[in-house]
Amino acid sequence: MANKEVYVVPHSHWDAEWYFTCEDSHILLIENMDYLMTVLERDPTFPSYTFDGLACVIDEYLAIRPENRARLAALIRARRLLVGPWYTQCDSLLIRTESLIRNLVYGTNIAGHFGHSMNIGYLPDIFGQHAWLPAFFTDLGITYCVLQRGIYTDQLNGDLNFYWRAPNKAMIATNYLYFGYGPGKFLSAQPDYLEQRLLPILDRLSAMNQRTDKLLLPAGGDQVLVNAGFPATVAALNRCRAGYTFRLASYETYMEAAWADTDFPHIIDGELVGCQKSRIHRTCHSTRYDIKQQTWKTEHLLLDQLEPLAALAARQGITCPARLMDTLWKTVFLAHAHNGIEATNADPVNHDIKQRLISVERSALSLINLLKKKLSHPITRQLGQANLLVVFNTDVHPLDQPVSAVLFTRNPHFTLRHDGTSVDYTLLRQAAMDGGKKVVVTAQGEKLEPVEHYYRSEILFPPFPMQGLGYQAYVVDEENPAQPGRPVAPTSATYIENCHYRVTLEAGRLSLEHLRLNQRIDDLLTFVDEGDDGDEFDFSPLESEHPLRCNTFSLVATETGPLVSIMTLSSVLTLPQGMAERQAGRQDQPLTLLTRLELRHQEPLVRVHHELHNTMTEHRLRVQIKTPVERPACSYADQGYSMLRRDTVSRYVPGWREAGFVEKPMPIHTLENVVCLRGPHCVFGVMTKGIKEYEVVPEENSIALTLFRSVGLLGKDDTRWRPGRASGINNKVVHTPDALMQQTMTFDYALLLDDPRTEEAGVYRAVNNYREHYLAYHVQSLNTFEERLERFTIPLPDHPAPAAAMHLAVDNPRIFMSMCKPGTDNALIIRLFNPGDTPETFNIHSGGEQLIHRLNLREAYQETLTGAITLAGKQYLTLAVCPR
Ligand SMILES: [Zn+2]
Repeated sequence: MANKEVYVVPHSHWDAEWYFTCEDSHILLIENMDYLMTVLERDPTFPSYTFDGLACVIDEYLAIRPENRARLAALIRARRLLVGPWYTQCDSLLIRTESLIRNLVYGTNIAGHFGHSMNIGYLPDIFGQHAWLPAFFTDLGITYCVLQRGIYTDQLNGDLNFYWRAPNKAMIATNYLYFGYGPGKFLSAQPDYLEQRLLPILDRLSAMNQRTDKLLLPAGGDQVLVNAGFPATVAALNRCRAGYTFRLASYETYMEAAWADTDFPHIIDGELVGCQKSRIHRTCHSTRYDIKQQTWKTEHLLLDQLEPLAALAARQGITCPARLMDTLWKTVFLAHAHNGIEATNADPVNHDIKQRLISVERSALSLINLLKKKLSHPITRQLGQANLLVVFNTDVHPLDQPVSAVLFTRNPHFTLRHDGTSVDYTLLRQAAMDGGKKVVVTAQGEKLEPVEHYYRSEILFPPFPMQGLGYQAYVVDEENPAQPGRPVAPTSATYIENCHYRVTLEAGRLSLEHLRLNQRIDDLLTFVDEGDDGDEFDFSPLESEHPLRCNTFSLVATETGPLVSIMTLSSVLTLPQGMAERQAGRQDQPLTLLTRLELRHQEPLVRVHHELHNTMTEHRLRVQIKTPVERPACSYADQGYSMLRRDTVSRYVPGWREAGFVEKPMPIHTLENVVCLRGPHCVFGVMTKGIKEYEVVPEENSIALTLFRSVGLLGKDDTRWRPGRASGINNKVVHTPDALMQQTMTFDYALLLDDPRTEEAGVYRAVNNYREHYLAYHVQSLNTFEERLERFTIPLPDHPAPAAAMHLAVDNPRIFMSMCKPGTDNALIIRLFNPGDTPETFNIHSGGEQLIHRLNLREAYQETLTGAITLAGKQYLTLAVCPR
């Protein structure tokens, strides 16, 4: 038998933070990188070192060692130090797909700028693989992928090399790290090690590589320092003549060699969340709910509001600093790094992650305020009207839903007019505000003068048609309040309704009826609380658990106005204080849940909001939403640019422990925005704003959303769904009191019940409307606190601008926008997708002559498009729209 070739890949897996802090890892990075560069420079027999596919380490290292820039670049250029394609290796199932793409774009660009971005979509440790990664990697020009985690052994076909395929059929040559990233970490030619550890691993790898004699042996570990003795070790191993030939390599050289002379025909499709050999931690998606919710809010501001607003502003000659946007994104990537966004960290680390997201949120709000103000003042000039409300459509589709806005007026009554026509608005809330005092400097000293009080009004109104990315101004007329808003008023009704739904409270039970479909769901919502004996990584149910349930509600208030009806309800779950009380069967602590249900005029959604203050510990609270779909066999949840079909009962669950699975393969999954069930009579969807984890309970015809988990430990040995060692640090228990979630929390989601023929596009459209792709701004001087920068004087454009403008529209409602941002040379960059199965044709309108270029993900020019554009089913497209 010819010798098998073992490609030993020296590498470091670099967790940015975890049970240790980012400060620890930054200091460690300087030490490691100094030493690593010296080792590589001194020893030409050490061919290369893989630094976890990260580009952020370049920024972090050079911030402290700028003098080593040329040395670092030389090693990267020579492919001796391998960085990229990630900025940070983010956990792909918990963030917006657009954030995932941006992370890769920044990573490949920065590493490429330094000479070379690793040609490997490298996924050594993230907890499950996003279905679209093969498409994104290939679109970035990456040829190969190397991954651990997510594969069931029966998905393989005798080879660890295979093609991994995305929903758009893009494929990437992939290698599965069956033994993880560390089987060669302690590589040695000592006879004991060779016989007892290395050769059995290599023999197993040989058996699992039937089509190639080339084996991949990653030799690294978490935060490891380079082992300068590897060349000598490899030489010594080759002298042992053990039936294997060893060479030091990179993932690139291994994949190039293995795939050069062999075709591996096997294909594995889609999302990878198998948990047989490596853990996925399927229930950490509900750990530290506050962090999950905060990332949703921050991404929503950046992607659905700030960037499109910046694109619109750019077309009006107003710029937003590009470098500041880079800084915001990089801060988001630091929060999204693997382990980080899972929140499976020590408390100080989770604190930092949340603060990074909050800091970006504040910057985004500041920038939004700045852009709205700079865009609005030129309109006041043109109209000769200072009191204006401006609505910005931040989507490329018509804004066709009621718009909410906040106004500050002297008069409690005002009329809203567009183009002379008054608008029928609903007054949601109005409060008289104390004007406070202002300081006046006089010759006699400072004087305090009272400022007149004013009114803060929250309104909802149907906007006049707006076709796409643009704005529209409304005059706020306080002098002639001929048509003031109609307020929402309390009623004694025990139901609310719109043209689609009626929600009724009857004898404490909640029901939902769809009026047109003639469908009725009784006991719509049930809160279910269980003990959680796990850790931050994994939920662990108790041995004999009777979940505590509550499906009764009492009415707090019903309010109705022309555009909205709201019903507020209260429920009480009586829970044990903690684990000891739960095990003793002592339930005496009330948890009050306030639920607000809202139906808007003509909107096909039931908006649900919960608020609670949790004081209990070690438990998991879910809300089970009853659906009309009987015993659903599968669910459909969105991930990127398509919906993924998932079985509601996992075929891997029976016998999982006996089969040696490292984690129970529970059918608990993530959603990006929405999960749906389909039945013969309807489609039922639940869309969320920051709740990421769901499980279908087929025997109860329900979708369970995990609202939050309360756990006080980072790592624990041997939990019921996760046998064996603790994940993370094994010789110290890390307490995480912050993860007990003893705090006030709010939860937002919406329900969609529709015709069974509703296609993906209908669901995505409902998601878009629920997420809200618009902004409103009142030009006023009474309140200087609600918008972040309102108190300060800024330079305003001195040119006038028209009362309405439209800069970018797509004329097919089955095509959706993933992002829209300003590019160079006055171009707008947009990414569009078609979530359906059939091709869709569309035109782009930008209000003038234009050139449209197709780009790759790195925003490099591919070709110029003319005429109507056709986008295949389950496909996306990046375009630059340039004024001619
Ligand atoms: Zn890791």
